[in-house]
Amino acid sequence: MDTVTIHNTDPNRIFALLPDIGDADKHLITRACKFAEKAHEGQLRKSGEPYYNHVFETGVNLAMLKMDADTIAAGIMHDVLEDTNVTDVEMSKEFGEHITKLVEGVTKLGKLRYTGAERHVESLRKFFVAMADDIRVVVIKLCDRLHNIQTLQYVSPEKQKRIALETLEIHARLADRLGMGRLKTQLEDAAFPYVYPDDYKKTVELFESIKPISDEQLEKIVTALGEELTIFDVEIERIDYRVKHLYSLWQKLKRYKMDISKVHDVVALRIIVPTVGDCYQALGVIHGLYRPVPGRFKDYIAVPKPNGYRSLHTTIFSGYGNTLEIQIRTQDMHREAEYGIASHLSYKELGKHASKEELIKKTGWTKELLEWQKDVEHHQDFMNNLKTDFFQSRVFVLTPKGDVIDLPEGSTPIDFAYAVHSDIGDHIASAKVNGKLVPLNTQLKNRDVIEIEVKGSASPKRKWLDITKTTLAKRRIRAYIKEHGTALDKLLTR
Ligand code: MN
Repeated sequence: MDTVTIHNTDPNRIFALLPDIGDADKHLITRACKFAEKAHEGQLRKSGEPYYNHVFETGVNLAMLKMDADTIAAGIMHDVLEDTNVTDVEMSKEFGEHITKLVEGVTKLGKLRYTGAERHVESLRKFFVAMADDIRVVVIKLCDRLHNIQTLQYVSPEKQKRIALETLEIHARLADRLGMGRLKTQLEDAAFPYVYPDDYKKTVELFESIKPISDEQLEKIVTALGEELTIFDVEIERIDYRVKHLYSLWQKLKRYKMDISKVHDVVALRIIVPTVGDCYQALGVIHGLYRPVPGRFKDYIAVPKPNGYRSLHTTIFSGYGNTLEIQIRTQDMHREAEYGIASHLSYKELGKHASKEELIKKTGWTKELLEWQKDVEHHQDFMNNLKTDFFQSRVFVLTPKGDVIDLPEGSTPIDFAYAVHSDIGDHIASAKVNGKLVPLNTQLKNRDVIEIEVKGSASPKRKWLDITKTTLAKRRIRAYIKEHGTALDKLLTR
């Protein structure tokens, strides 16, 4: 592992990553740097470096994802509220409420009450809620974690293992779910040696033992492909060469009993072309030039992966006695594969959107969130590892706007209404689950979308106490009845 200690905290390092950045945003980021540096003054990391280095590098990671200036500023200040004497009021005064809210969101994610397996579930739950609130909070947290995991050599071995395992099970999965391929592989490769040291060594050995294809062979193939594509009038924007990351190589090796000769995509060529049509045309040209390995062609453009990944994959016989995977995609597809949801939150994209609502619609994060939840539910191993029924005993339901409400199992629309607002609970007229009118004692299930219709004349009934699950709802119902009496009480006392 390389252990690069960077002492250069010049904001120009961040600006260099954002070619389109304007003066106002430069000014904002510079102010955030000064603010955080002063707030963390005298604090040191385990490595002995100033603590400020960590938060600055978090800002750099965000700039690499081309996030907007507000997010980068919040990333630079992400530990200020938790670890220094600066208050949210002071930060709001300096940077406004929207940036302070982002920092508060990150702070909340870090505050976990449980330990062990329960902690993972709790953390995941908080991520869901944060996503519902502002997806940028999650991106900041992932960039924070990336720097922490890349500088893990300085903490105690016991803590190393805990943080690295959490990174694999929570943060890398989350990055994957959000389609942030590059961040996911960075998190995984940094965590891998701490969680599975023996497998890591073995994977490195196997990787070094093979030479899938020589540089000379590769060069010849690239030249031949270039010429042929030009003859057929397919424009090539770029040809990249990528080597499989160690953690994903290990995942694959496990499926093939650690036989690396069965892994066909240890290295791959990546061809970037202008349009979708060019992708298919390029594929045709390549298959005309090299014989494809049967059964290895995948059309992720027509049928994208659940996280949105799009590309054509094929494996060819190179003519040198070995095979080579070729991936064909457009620049847009490539950007999405590397940055995922962050590519929609980027500096340029964000400027195009009038409101956050519009942005949320565009990112379709709600769908992502639901898919990811489904994944977690179906992933038996993951659940077994957690060794807890905590997750099963909670349901996550949604408001029509997509906000996540977390309730105990067996909760009804009444619990939901009170969880949203006591006024709504006090005036429930009817409830719809997934667009259908339901009785108020209906038990809610994961991912249900609940809509409550309120009427001023409606009021809580005593029997609601038997069909609610949360103490919050029961408390409010009792309080209401005590204060107003029920309709029946009124009739009787008349
Ligand atoms: Mn941090």
